[in-house]
Amino acid sequence: MTGKLALSDKVLMRVEKSARYIGNEIGMIKKDPDDVLIRFAFCFPDVYEIGMSHLGIQILYEMFNRRDDLYCERVYSPWPDLHRIMKDEGIPLFALESQDPISDFDFLGITLQYEMCYTNVLQVLDLARIPFHATDRGEDDPIVCGGGPCTYNPEPIADFFDFFFIGEGETEYDHIFDLYGSMKRSGTYSRSAFLREVSHIPGVYVPSLYEVSYNEDGTVSDFVPKFSDVPATVVRQVEMDLDNSPYPEKPLVPYVQATQDRVVLEIMRGCIRGCRFCQAGMLYRPTRQRNVEVLKKYAISMLDATGQDEISLSSLSSSDYEALPELLDFLIDECTKRKVNISLPSLRIDAFSLDVMDKVADVKKSSITFAPEGGSQRMRDVINKGLTVSDILQGATEAFKGGWTKVKLYFMLGLPGEREEDMTAIPDLADEIAMCYYDTIPKDQRNGRVRVTISTSFFVPKPFTPFQWAPMEEATEYKRRAHIVKDRMHSEHNAKSISYQYHEPDVTLLEGVFARGDRRIAAVIEKAYEKGCFFDAWTEFFHKDLWDQSFEECGVDPDFYTMRERPIEEKFPWDFIDCGITRAFLEREWKRSKEEVVTPNCRMGCSGCGIRKYGGGVCFEGKNKV
Ligand code: SF4
Repeated sequence: MTGKLALSDKVLMRVEKSARYIGNEIGMIKKDPDDVLIRFAFCFPDVYEIGMSHLGIQILYEMFNRRDDLYCERVYSPWPDLHRIMKDEGIPLFALESQDPISDFDFLGITLQYEMCYTNVLQVLDLARIPFHATDRGEDDPIVCGGGPCTYNPEPIADFFDFFFIGEGETEYDHIFDLYGSMKRSGTYSRSAFLREVSHIPGVYVPSLYEVSYNEDGTVSDFVPKFSDVPATVVRQVEMDLDNSPYPEKPLVPYVQATQDRVVLEIMRGCIRGCRFCQAGMLYRPTRQRNVEVLKKYAISMLDATGQDEISLSSLSSSDYEALPELLDFLIDECTKRKVNISLPSLRIDAFSLDVMDKVADVKKSSITFAPEGGSQRMRDVINKGLTVSDILQGATEAFKGGWTKVKLYFMLGLPGEREEDMTAIPDLADEIAMCYYDTIPKDQRNGRVRVTISTSFFVPKPFTPFQWAPMEEATEYKRRAHIVKDRMHSEHNAKSISYQYHEPDVTLLEGVFARGDRRIAAVIEKAYEKGCFFDAWTEFFHKDLWDQSFEECGVDPDFYTMRERPIEEKFPWDFIDCGITRAFLEREWKRSKEEVVTPNCRMGCSGCGIRKYGGGVCFEGKNKV
């Protein structure tokens, strides 16, 4: 470690939270860049505090750096204040560890966690002085690769990447680095030779090696590899042995307070529930539970290494982790000694979960969150939420008995087939919950008034979900629906107990275009970036007018991507990816949603989604054992 900094003191003094850019955090891995063959810059294209909270990067940072021939460093999006200075003063983007320019690296790996970071990808390339288009890059430019959930439809950003890795990074990155290393050592490396070879590694998608054609109506007609050795289908890779895969037992501790400032214990991957709107629930199948003894060991080593005062259990649905009682008994014991708080998001609200929450944290009197997603039973059946009104009311009753007086309720508006009665059912349910408080808690034992906060977001259909065929609505229609909820609340219910917040629909519609877009969207993203759009996920930096102009100037109609209900046989831009779930299963689920029929969760019985072929997890446990 040289101790050098890429930014002068003068620049650091002028920007907000300069500790974002100096690296050297506890847990940072130090190597001499001259001692390695491969330099990898791992990028989270958002601000440092958000990127540092992401477990996936920490897992791969640990795994990549176990190699002696590779040094993996980190880079995040410079905040707009520093962005301006870097542009004005010609300062190139640099990695936190060595503070060296990104253009010196062999790889720039970008994790794509949400669509609204797409212009930030261009910001990173721009500041790193790497050509936007993969086809314009030369031998000395880093190989730009992408991973994360957005790669399940990478087409809107396909032009900007040399390759994508589709699936869990633990599985194949070593093979990718072995290939790169051996080509470098033997002198056979060239950019094009490497990209051709790497396309043979399972899960790797090299966009420049495929040709897309379109029908007159604008839909995809054909998507084919340009060469016979390039696979026509890219198969998602899944880590089936989580207990023996790398885990960051000495995670990084940021100097600036991160959004999630705690150590994270990933207890399980995947979800047994089959909510039809949830892309993560579909993509991360099969559910795989980590061994409880391994988790106990990780917890101790992470707390020892970091001194953090909070540990968070992470998964899509923590109540479904079978060894949760044993793990919690251990953690409560250990964390009480250390004065460490335990946080447990993603719990289903039932008596067991409330009991757990009561034990693990001092959360009484603060708010409790329920996510019924749909207001009416009909809508919860359409989305396969698997939650009845009596489950919700019982959960609320238990929570009130336990001392909670504030309830947050999350719903989606604009779900497929939504009717007015589904919208008005949202404040009606909130009111029923509020009434539960007054029915359950005698007047002399009440801790003030109950507060129920309703929050709605607008639904975005995502690839590889049963709703991938569903249409979205116009912004005006979304606003009308939010007003139906609001008006009902004011006309029928006690507004002193219930409040309502909703997200604006414009960002949602853009996210909808990106989620199911094709390669023609890249030009719009580039145009919008040129006009000054980046950090679009941040309301204060979202410029709808600039996006509207960009679509118009590029001759791209956003409604084509959002408003249509797709015919069942339509060829999608992401059809070349085999994510494990069969199209037949998704079609079946789309049909069942229209019939308002619920599909049981994986532990109640297998519904034959296709994931069993991975040979493990919930598909071979309990009732599903052969
Ligand atoms: S194959 Fe069956 S048990 Fe396995 S994830 Fe699919 S539905 Fe669930």
